[in-house]
Amino acid sequence: MSSNLLLGKPVAEKHYSLMKKRILELKNKGIVPKLVVILIGNNPASRIYVNSKAKMFKNLNCLSEIKKLDERVSKKNLLKLIEELNNNKNVHGILLQLPLPKHLDSNDFLSKINPMKDVDGFHPENSGLLFQGNPRFIPCTPLGCVKILEHYKIDIKSKYIVVIGRSNIVGKPITSLLSQPFKFGNATVTLCHSHTTNLSSYTKLADIIISAVGKPSLIKNDMVKNGCIILDVGINRINDSSDKGYHIVGDVDFPSVVEKASYISPVPGGIGPMTISMLVHNTILAAELSTK
Ligand code: NAD
Repeated sequence: MSSNLLLGKPVAEKHYSLMKKRILELKNKGIVPKLVVILIGNNPASRIYVNSKAKMFKNLNCLSEIKKLDERVSKKNLLKLIEELNNNKNVHGILLQLPLPKHLDSNDFLSKINPMKDVDGFHPENSGLLFQGNPRFIPCTPLGCVKILEHYKIDIKSKYIVVIGRSNIVGKPITSLLSQPFKFGNATVTLCHSHTTNLSSYTKLADIIISAVGKPSLIKNDMVKNGCIILDVGINRINDSSDKGYHIVGDVDFPSVVEKASYISPVPGGIGPMTISMLVHNTILAAELSTK
């Protein structure tokens, strides 16, 4: 079977052009959407993500600022910064770049971000709204997955979807999103995780597999059925002898699985660009909500 690639870039571009009109409407009201990213320490992957987010905001004439904090920042000082940003009316979105250093528990801080500025959608109020079927900010990667499926006209209604990974960032919210009676929902979804026994007994039945684990080659050819659709959310660095010293792969053993899948998102170039575009979308939404 020849697979169709679910490329994220053209979908993200389409959404950026839709966003331009909303940015202009806000500009006419004297508002420029602004995101502040809090970056703690020197995690190289986090730095790359944060810089690519900032670049996209600049391209769209929106504002973004990176608040860099020392690896050893105290809980008190981080809470103080969040409080300042919560009270700054020129800041519409606040993003705490994860993972945090070991001495800080992300739950202590995500719940302190003003839920109206929580563009990652990780605040308990926003998770609760999503789980109740009345979402405000939907986490960026799950929303990006929905938008990519919609763009490629993949209907999920009544389909059997297997989500692998149960994080608050991807696995749990996407399970909720796809199973609810939304316009783009109504799928039957199973959430698998590190304690699932015999993962392939689920994946073999799946019409759609969404893997968000962070393990290269977790999903192999003999674990999927012919014609299945695969969204590979995983990002894994593999060291090599290239100038960069590494390359990026997903959770799926792409060369073997591509033979069976009808659609598959590549890594890189699949879900990654969608995540960034949905962050911009959520920041514009936060700016719009600030006017109401
Ligand atoms: P995480 O790292 O917090 O947790 C991983 C999850 O995988 C856990 O819930 C665990 O139960 C599950 N798991 C571990 N081993 C497993 C196994 N053998 N079988 C089944 N499940 C297993 O999750 P996360 O933060 O959602 O990140 C997952 C991956 O997605 C990472 O590679 C991350 O870099 C990537 N990611 C990509 C994007 C993007 O934009 N493409 C966004 C967010 C995360």
